[in-house]
Order: sequence, then structure tokens, then C-alpha cells
Amino acid sequence: MQKIELQNRIDLEIFCPFCGTKVRSDEGLKTCEHVLYHASDYSFEYVKIGIGFDTDVDLGESSMDEYTDALEFENSFKIAVYDPPPSLFGGYVAFQKV
Ligand SMILES: [Zn+2]
Repeated sequence: MQKIELQNRIDLEIFCPFCGTKVRSDEGLKTCEHVLYHASDYSFEYVKIGIGFDTDVDLGESSMDEYTDALEFENSFKIAVYDPPPSLFGGYVAFQKV
């Protein structure tokens, strides 16, 4: 999946590029029809119904970042935001043009 990485921006507000919904902010996570998933290094917080897995999916040996990098959906991309070092804790959201 195409990926946009932003360092030191775990607190970044992210808006859906297709409909403008504010999907990630200090008010929490929201979804719209374009969001494929919300995830952090701990877990999936939201997975769109019908995309082939759910929030309980087994990542195997992969980190969340690796697992979500390997997912392929048409017309989609992932935004990854990371805490500053040494934490580098990640938050991930993916959008798909529907
Ligand atoms: Zn949207």
C-alpha cells in the first residue's frame, strides 16, 4: 500500500482527502466510508466491514506497521504518524477512494 510517513506528528489532525471528515484528532477517531482502518502499534481500533479481516486479526510475526504496509487495496493509501524517538509509537489510518 502506498504510504505517507510523518515523524513527530502523532497528534496530527487528519482529514479524509475525499470527503473532508476529520478522522483523527485529540477528540478521538472517526470514520467515513473511505477509511479502511484505524490502527496503532497496539491494535486495530477500527476495520471497515467486508475488507477481509477484522480488529482481532493475528499479525503473526509482523509489527502493525509491517502488517498494514503489506495490505493491498485499489486506490488506497496509508498515513503513518509516529511519536518522536525513542518511542516511535505509531498511529495508522488508511483511505480508499470508493
Ligand atoms: Zn471520507
